[in-house]
Amino acid sequence: MIPTSAPVIGQLETQFVSEAVMSSHVSGLSGGNVPLFEQEFADYCGAEHGVATTSGTTALHLALIGLDLQPGDEVLVATLTNMATFFAVLYCGATPIPIDVESDTCNLDPSLLEDALTDRVVGVIVVHLFGHPVDMDPVVDFCAANDLWLVEDAAEAHGAKYKGRTVGTFGDAGCFSFFANKIITTGEGGMILLRDAAVAARARNIRNLAFGDSNRFMHKGLGFNYRLTNVQAALGLAQMRRIDENIALKRQVAARYSEGLRGVDGLRLPVERPDCESVFWMYHVVLQDQWEGRRDYVRAALLDRGIETRECFVPFDQQDYFVEHGHVKRGLCPVAGSIGMNGFYIPSGPVLSPSDQDKVVDVLRTVLGA
Ligand SMILES: *Cc1c(COP(=O)(O)O)cnc(C)c1O
Repeated sequence: MIPTSAPVIGQLETQFVSEAVMSSHVSGLSGGNVPLFEQEFADYCGAEHGVATTSGTTALHLALIGLDLQPGDEVLVATLTNMATFFAVLYCGATPIPIDVESDTCNLDPSLLEDALTDRVVGVIVVHLFGHPVDMDPVVDFCAANDLWLVEDAAEAHGAKYKGRTVGTFGDAGCFSFFANKIITTGEGGMILLRDAAVAARARNIRNLAFGDSNRFMHKGLGFNYRLTNVQAALGLAQMRRIDENIALKRQVAARYSEGLRGVDGLRLPVERPDCESVFWMYHVVLQDQWEGRRDYVRAALLDRGIETRECFVPFDQQDYFVEHGHVKRGLCPVAGSIGMNGFYIPSGPVLSPSDQDKVVDVLRTVLGA
């Protein structure tokens, strides 16, 4: 079986993690790895401050708490994403408004923001889906013009660049995940990038149960335990040594697929816009024309030949639970609806061998009669 993805874990990871374990600094409150990892990751992205958390989901939640998101507030959110992006808004009791996406990048379509604006909207969350940067200039302008905050969900896009600038640094907060299949991993983990030292200090305090200063147990407010551990941060520090290599490998995999699958009828391939550097987190294709609506068949045929795939995310406005519970009207975002039904990604791990890749190309071409 060729898996969709597997992390690269080597000697360095083993060494860093075992040093952390042997030091007996295993929690999120002792040992020096967490602040080191925060600083290294922030420096890598060109950000001022990093705040490590237990996951990409908790990074998003903590970022929104920091922005004081309240019940009754509305947030404009790219509808096609891991639902964690929406959950974070809902954890705050606020109302997410799904925004449709562009058919080529699968990212939030900035031209739809204006029409979605109400006087309750306080912010925008964009998602750099599958590692391709969102078209940030119009989003940044829209937020500035309407006095809205901007959060980037960059959970799939570590190191991706828009007009030369690394994603996660455009808005008020940039959120990342270090789950096992992301660009780098700490097993589970996340990070918020922030500009302001005071905002970062407050986020670290809330992450740490909002402990008090002079009396630790006179809490400053409602806190959470979203602490990454010293052991996980050790893994993260080792992974930072390979982040550039992982991205280069992802880009190589994507280039080889795009070459091999070019011109296949009924298959839309991922793009890379001229002003963007995608990290091609996963190579995501969309069935169209004569193959539209036949994803189950295609995925089953690939699985039959030992090729694992994964279906595209289901957009917020197509989630049965949220439709049935009155959070959203079904089918508000038709472009995302079609991508969600017809998209899937093929094996894209950084360790995928060229021969396995060629097998994926051959099988996919055969299944699609190309
Ligand atoms: C993975 C992911 C998340 C959630 O991250 P976890 O670390 O799994 O909590 C959020 N948003 C997007 C776009 C993701 O891909």
